Amino acid sequence: MSKILVTQATLPEFDEYINEIEDIWQTKMLTNMGSKHNLLENELKKFLEISNIVLFTNGHQALELCLQSLCLEGEVITSPFTFISTTSAIVRSGLKPVFCDVNYEDCTIDTTKIEKLITNKTVALMPIHVYGNVCDVEKIEEIAKKYNLLVIYDSAHAFGVSYKGQTISNYGDINMYSFHATKVFNTIEGGALTFSDNKYHEKFTKIKNFGFNGQESVDLFGSNAKMNEFQAAMGLCNLKHIKENIKKRQLIVFRYRKKLKNVKNLRILKPQKDVESNYSYFPIFIDSKNFNRRDFLFNRLADNGIFTRKYFYPITSNYECFAQDDLSNNSTPIAEELSKEVLTLPLFPDLELNVVDKICDLIKNILDEVNG
Ligand SMILES: *Cc1c(COP(=O)(O)O)cnc(C)c1O
Repeated sequence: MSKILVTQATLPEFDEYINEIEDIWQTKMLTNMGSKHNLLENELKKFLEISNIVLFTNGHQALELCLQSLCLEGEVITSPFTFISTTSAIVRSGLKPVFCDVNYEDCTIDTTKIEKLITNKTVALMPIHVYGNVCDVEKIEEIAKKYNLLVIYDSAHAFGVSYKGQTISNYGDINMYSFHATKVFNTIEGGALTFSDNKYHEKFTKIKNFGFNGQESVDLFGSNAKMNEFQAAMGLCNLKHIKENIKKRQLIVFRYRKKLKNVKNLRILKPQKDVESNYSYFPIFIDSKNFNRRDFLFNRLADNGIFTRKYFYPITSNYECFAQDDLSNNSTPIAEELSKEVLTLPLFPDLELNVVDKICDLIKNILDEVNG
């Protein structure tokens, strides 16, 4: 088998992209909220069923500038079973991350543990829809109302996911989406903030463009995080194929589930009730308590040209950058355990089902060696 990576960027046909960018050679408009940028905003508003969207050069800038434009001070409750971006955005905005544990069943924030972590400094919740699994959005809304907290979802994994027939963009005050090359929908690099309340629109638009308020006025210190026209053009092309690509992902996930259903010491996540998934990731959890079967499997798969990823290991609170901080009140044993067990398997629309079968057979053979 040739080398298989955990993911592969989804690209439109070459000619389709060339057609989309051709008129840029007439307009000479490469960036600064050009026509492709504006068209993509409109198309995404329709697709995500949301009234407001602001596009960014990547998802991380969207998250970071979101926090900065709101001028928040204090603590943000989040979970550490995520990509470092979520935690970094909080810290780099001068806020303190407070780590809440996650559910063993779906890896999202454990809402029964949030209230204990709320103090008079808490200003916001930043839960993550990990692997596109939907957080307990109803409970989160209830807590946020009770304590008057802002809810900003890291929806980087959850593009196109709906819950009870409603887009997840409708939950929380603000959602951040990532359009990175490795995500379900990509604009090469890119990201967005979506929200229902119009009041955020001006803030987010200004902060991504140096704080400009018209040509001669700057009323806040902004950054530069605009999405350019080539990115937007890629998005316009990819959005046309998003449904068929999610469908292809679904077939792959169903195959993985079927083949890996009853394997000793291997756990797969159950589909969530009332959720229409985007099938963004396929994580498996390998019991590693007495012996590190997860790392054994990871290495042996790599020897065979199958490159899986440990999403997410380590948990973000265990990174060296936190070495100076006292995180003793931030114990998250479930997140820690999950991070030692997890392996995300190759998943992208063009992955062939017979390759999925081979990967599954290989996993079973390797685990047989160490299951005893
Ligand atoms: C990808 C990702 C981000 C960051 O998005 P970029 O577009 O790569 O900057 C943030 N959070 C999570 C959970 C992600 O997976």
